[in-house]
Amino acid sequence: MSSPHHATIPVYYEDAYARDFEATVLDVESDHIILDRTCFYPEGGGQPGDRGTVGDVRIIDTRKGDAGVILHRVDPDQPHDIQAGQTVSCSIDWDWRFDFMQQHTGQHVLSASFLRIADMQSVSVHQGLEYTTIELDGEELSADALVAVENEANRVINENLPVQAYEVDEAEVGRLDLRRAPKVSGRIRIVEIPETDRVACGGVHTRRTGEVGLLRLCAVERIRGNVRYAWFIGRRAHEHHRFAHNELSALSTLLSVPAAEVRLRVQELDAKLKDAERQIAGLLGDVARSRADALARAAEDTEGAPRTVIEDLGEVDSAYLRTVAEVLAAQPRMLAVLMARQSGRAMWAVSHGEGLSVDPQTLRSQAFPVAAAKGGGKPPLWQGAMERPEAFGDFARAVCVCAGLSP
Ligand SMILES: [Zn+2]
Repeated sequence: MSSPHHATIPVYYEDAYARDFEATVLDVESDHIILDRTCFYPEGGGQPGDRGTVGDVRIIDTRKGDAGVILHRVDPDQPHDIQAGQTVSCSIDWDWRFDFMQQHTGQHVLSASFLRIADMQSVSVHQGLEYTTIELDGEELSADALVAVENEANRVINENLPVQAYEVDEAEVGRLDLRRAPKVSGRIRIVEIPETDRVACGGVHTRRTGEVGLLRLCAVERIRGNVRYAWFIGRRAHEHHRFAHNELSALSTLLSVPAAEVRLRVQELDAKLKDAERQIAGLLGDVARSRADALARAAEDTEGAPRTVIEDLGEVDSAYLRTVAEVLAAQPRMLAVLMARQSGRAMWAVSHGEGLSVDPQTLRSQAFPVAAAKGGGKPPLWQGAMERPEAFGDFARAVCVCAGLSP
């Protein structure tokens, strides 16, 4: 669709630091406003669109329209009465914009460092809300090589080199030795950091590399046969450093060791914990077997008649419950109906020894509803959860009936 409007004048190319400006409204559509000139950068080149205000209307995003027209997307929840022909005072969200200027300039510096140090080409870049990613062709770099890339990029930042932008004709591009071939034609905008990087780019950048501040690798990911590196850049690198330092300091205090020994100490504690868990599991098994033996001895033993153990085992875990049920199932003509609780959750187990049987269908249809029980198993042991532990006595009587015993 051809646009009825003149191209919007992109003030951000004359001055990337202009944040407040006046403009004339050319058109107002349901979801966007068109101005004659703007400082709002429209999404492109991996850099998101600007936010801010046009008059008193919140702008939530900026996009490119047709034929150089820039669309300022309005907040759909905010009614407004801005009309074509009006002159409006506008402001961009500077914190948002400067953050992405740092991301974008930092990405140029990083792409140049990857090329210089590791001979790797950037194939795609993305400036996200948390970090900036650079996807490169080729194999994953060693930790040492990545440190070298990061150091080189931070050296370029410390040199505080100018970031220059200028336009050339398409025909001149071949003589410029660009980092990568341009994707556009006609007049081409070149962004250059002396002795570092020269590339076609339509984004907005800081005036000098020093304003990027700091950059730090945060993650490595393999994707589509390439490698993608995620970076904290600028203010985000400082914020991340503060966060990481505070967390490490807190851990160091908690563990009473210097920061450099935190990892080793956690590994030691982890090994100790696993040992302790193994020991506890063994001891609890012994306790459960003793408990089962005691319960079996206490069960009434009339000559030749089946015995029953109906017992609430209290606060124990499901492994303990199962062990007691298993030990009791080793007793001939024994029926065990057991309950236990853990973390406020009630569990049950039913088991029987040789000479008895429990029909699973009957168990499900006759006993389960009594205590709102769920679960399953196979002879001679069933286990599950119950929602009405207060009905355990009635549940146990129903199980006895299932096993053909008088409750
Ligand atoms: Zn750029």
